Amino acid sequence: PQLGQVLPDQPELKIIRRKIPGFVGFANLPKQWHRKSIRRGFTFNLLVVSQKGLGKSTLINTLFNKDLDSIGESNPNAVAEKLEGTGLEDGEENAASLHTNEGSGESNLHSNVKINAATTTIEENGVNLKLTVVDTPGFGDAIDNTDSWKPIVDEINLRFDQYLDSENRINRTFEDDNRIHACLYFIEPTAHLLKPLDIEFCKQVHEKCNLIPVIAKSDILTEEEINVFKRRIRRQLDEAQVQLFQPPQYSLDDEESIQASRELYEKLPYAVVGSTEVVVSRDGRQVRGRSYPWGVIEVDNSNHCDFVYLRDMLVSQYLEELRERTNKVLYEKYRSEKLTRLGIKQDNSVFKEFDPDMRQKEEKQLHEAKLAKLEAEMKTVFHQKVSEKEKKLQKSEAELFSRHKEMKEKLTKQLKALEDKKRQLESSVNNPAPPSPAQPKKKGFLR
Ligand code: GDP
Repeated sequence: PQLGQVLPDQPELKIIRRKIPGFVGFANLPKQWHRKSIRRGFTFNLLVVSQKGLGKSTLINTLFNKDLDSIGESNPNAVAEKLEGTGLEDGEENAASLHTNEGSGESNLHSNVKINAATTTIEENGVNLKLTVVDTPGFGDAIDNTDSWKPIVDEINLRFDQYLDSENRINRTFEDDNRIHACLYFIEPTAHLLKPLDIEFCKQVHEKCNLIPVIAKSDILTEEEINVFKRRIRRQLDEAQVQLFQPPQYSLDDEESIQASRELYEKLPYAVVGSTEVVVSRDGRQVRGRSYPWGVIEVDNSNHCDFVYLRDMLVSQYLEELRERTNKVLYEKYRSEKLTRLGIKQDNSVFKEFDPDMRQKEEKQLHEAKLAKLEAEMKTVFHQKVSEKEKKLQKSEAELFSRHKEMKEKLTKQLKALEDKKRQLESSVNNPAPPSPAQPKKKGFLR
């Protein structure tokens, strides 16, 4: 079905006719998820990677219809706030609230890129979404950005490792899923080509997280420029064998949905425009958009930009698929490669069914491998210590020996001197010297 879309402050508005079927807004997640999960709430960890000034903060605020800037500052003292609703749902109560601002303050300094993660819980129509935005300030902002991607890849790996550890704990809880479920990558609207850093970053992360690239601030480009730019970007990414997130079609049963999902993939990278400002369109409607002398660009209008496609892909249609692919494909790949590195035999089919016995066996092997590693490390340290001690002992033994030798020589010398003296004395006692003749007294003026 097509939906007329209504912004929260202008309930009478009917502005957008979108081709994409289905609903928008995460309040629809119950339709995607199991009932049990609903009670627990949902976790979604979004990695945003952008050079400064490409409109990242604005776009995130536009997506969740709230000034989320403060969460990026990792402020642990922030109080519960009211979130005005995402405005993404027609005719329903959009009571969304920002419960906590945990501001994990995780920061990881590697070259000049920092990692800031901050979490908010957003509630919409009784559905809780624990959203963590992982920001990477400093990415691409230095003169030499060759290794800018490294700290980000480290962060993704670290989050996988944490999850792997939590899986191996006896009293495990899977509530804390800190794995990155999607990565929003901002491309500078140059209308030219991707930069080497863009390609390198995509290559480094595409097998670790669901990659969704966007052309930032696309309102500065013409439609034709966007189309040409998109084609070039897709070609460059294809050549680099980078895989973008593709909505799966196995869960879809009607041709219309399949077509829509295909279109969502084909439209990548999304040419987005961000704005939380409400402006008046030429025909008098109040819309979220950017106003120019020549007219208004509407954020939520798919004829004006790709923002609605992004929202569908990320929040309202495929959030669960993003999480599922993270778990079943990306994490499994990481996990099995890691276990293989540790010398643990793996069943390589990433789609293998969950088998508790098998999992338990693997966990035991992992635990044993860890213990063996620890033991080997302890042994090495022990041997090192022993050999150090031995060397020390050898050294002091040699010192002792040479001191002993020195002393012996000294004593021998003394003994010899004493014997000489003794002999002299004895001979002087046995042969007393005759008295010496008296010396004639010298005459002279020196007397
Ligand atoms: P960040 O540094 O990437 O977080 O960028 P900001 O969101 O702070 O935006 C930087 C500047 O770009 C601000 O002046 C925004 O108003 C402006 N901006 C953000 N999004 C857009 C957009 O889609 N189009 C245009 N033309 N400007 C934008």
